[in-house]
Formats: sequence, structure tokens, C-alpha cells
Amino acid sequence: MSKFLNEKFKDFQEYTPGEQPKAGEYIKLNTNESPYPPGPLTRAKACDPENAKRLRLYPDPDLRALKQALAKRYGVEPTNVFCANGSDDILYVSFMAFGQDGLVFPDITYGFYDVFAGFIGQPFETKKLKDDFTIDVNDYLNTGKMVVIADPNAPTGLELLTSDIRKIIESNSDHVVLIDQAYADFGGTSYIPLTKEYDNLIVCCTYSKSRSLAGARLGFAVASEGLIKDLEKLKFSMNPYSVNRTTAEIGITALEEDDYYMENCKKIAETREWTTEELKKLGFYVIPSKTNFIFASSPDISGESLYTQLKDRKILVRHFDNERISNYNRITIGKREDMSIFIDTVKEILGKQGE
Ligand code: PMP
Repeated sequence: MSKFLNEKFKDFQEYTPGEQPKAGEYIKLNTNESPYPPGPLTRAKACDPENAKRLRLYPDPDLRALKQALAKRYGVEPTNVFCANGSDDILYVSFMAFGQDGLVFPDITYGFYDVFAGFIGQPFETKKLKDDFTIDVNDYLNTGKMVVIADPNAPTGLELLTSDIRKIIESNSDHVVLIDQAYADFGGTSYIPLTKEYDNLIVCCTYSKSRSLAGARLGFAVASEGLIKDLEKLKFSMNPYSVNRTTAEIGITALEEDDYYMENCKKIAETREWTTEELKKLGFYVIPSKTNFIFASSPDISGESLYTQLKDRKILVRHFDNERISNYNRITIGKREDMSIFIDTVKEILGKQGE
């Protein structure tokens, strides 16, 4: 730290992203990336020399073509779409735009929410998940604050009932409710259609998981026209070109081969179910997941010890220090062959070979 840093950031605890080792060094099951590469059209677009020549130009600050393509895909108008540099960027801008009365979210959820809120200086309150890690809907009714819910939640993988989501949105009609749907494509319910009914709802989505484009950094939000205008106002006050030209182009192309990505989501969901069953056979408790990861604990080994022993054997999973979940690991679903190696390695660690 230098002596020049603003006093207010000196003790601020920033977010710690999952480890990103050198490619090929580990089987990477720690940051919820897709194990499948982007589709052939998307890859060709990323390397298109004509596109590369146009990099001398700024991107379209209004991202008209990208918004048009997203609007068509999701059955909304381009004026209902906001695009940003990953969905983290959307969370940040939304918290800043709508969190002035404070924010409320679960104690166990995406670890960036409290960092963003703290960084912006918005007060926030966390509500304890029940012991089975489900959300108590009553905690989110009539809050007088901006409500933020990841659905399905991370790292638990659990989703709420649609009727409960509606209750939360309706009872907080004076505040924005942001539903973070980073993982909805793997079997969860999409709440994009509800944005037509509720003018206080933002549905936040990403290309990082289901579209295999974590490295391109593209997120989008769907909401009422008024909320989108507000988000644009803030974006144009901070970084009008937050989505770069190449990313905007490949974002459009990815939608042209959406079937490829949806097929991958299906494969990942199947592999998730297989992995869940295999872990259960080994005595693990696995929370039923609607995402591309599972959250699991074993009565035979601590979460931290399993994490460390897997790492020693070149498999990375995500372990969180938070006391309530320290016995768990979050395991991203890789290709079926990766998960077979993972299961065999867990057996070896537990001394259960041959079972
Ligand atoms: N929301 C949740 C719940 C996440 O797990 C992540 C990924 N870490 C994000 C948002 C952000 O994703 P990205 O910025 O890559 O779109």
C-alpha cells in the first residue's frame, strides 16, 4: 500500500477471486466457468481480421445491435436491455443507482454483494439463511430497502419458488428488487418475463457461465424502460465504453448459435446429476443444485482438508472460510471425464477405492 491511497480504502477488504492457475496445470472446478469452449461461430468472430481492423474505432456506446439481438432472444424490447462489462459491473452500477436506502441480501450468497455495497458506502443488512440453507421469504417482505437475491443462489445452488419471488417483488414495490440469474440457464426458472409485470424488477444475467464467455466479460440486465434509463445514466457518467467492440460482436454471434450453448447447459446438468449421485454414494451431503456447481460436505473429512488434498492432486475446487459453510466445498461441474477423475480422486483421499 502506498502513502497516497485514500484513507477510506486503507482498511477496506476487497473481493478475492477464485484462483486462476496456468492453463492445463489443474482440473479447474473452482470458478464456475464452462468446461466447453465458445461455439465455432463465436470463436471465428473473435478472430475475424475485419473486426480486428475496426478496433481502431470506439464501440457503439449505445450497443444497439447487441441490445437488439438480446431483446429478440428474450422477447423484450431493446429499451429493456442494459449491457455491461460482466454482470459484476451491473451489480455495481445497480447498487449505486438504487441502494440509497440500504440493501438487503442473504448472509450466504455471492461474496461480491457486501464488497460492492461497502465500497460504494451503501448500508447493507444480511439475513441469515435457514439451517438447510434455504431463504426465509419473510425476511425479504416490506424491507424498505433494495433487495438482492441470487436465484439460483450461489454457492448453495438452491432456487426460490416463483410465488415467493413474486411476493418479494410485490411487497417491495417502492424499491428495486434485483434477481441475479447468473446460473439460471442450468435448470432454474428465468424471471425475465416478470420484468414486463413489475417496474421495480431487474433481472441480471451473464454470458460467463452458460455461454462459455467468462473471459470476454459480458453481462446484461433486463428491466422496465425507466430502470434501464437510470442504469444508462450511471454508465454514461462512469464508462460509456464498458463493453468493448470485440465482446459486443461476439455477444451477437453467440446468440446465433444459441442451440450449441443450450445443449452444453443440458450436458452440464446431466453431469451434475451424475456427480451428485456419485458423491452421495461416498457419504457426502449434496445440496440439490439447479446450477453448474454443487455444494457438498462429507462427515468423513473437513471441507478444508478435502480442498487441500484435492489441490495437492491437481484438482481445484472452491472453499470458503465463512464459518457456517466451512465444512463444504463448491464444486464446478466440468466435463464428464473431469468429474470421473474428480470422483476417483475423492475416493482415493477417503480411502474408499474399489467401492
Ligand atoms: N453473480 C453471481 C451469483 C456469480 O457467481 C458471478 C460470478 N462470479 C457473477 C454474478 C459475476 O459474473 P460475471 O461478472 O462474470 O458476469
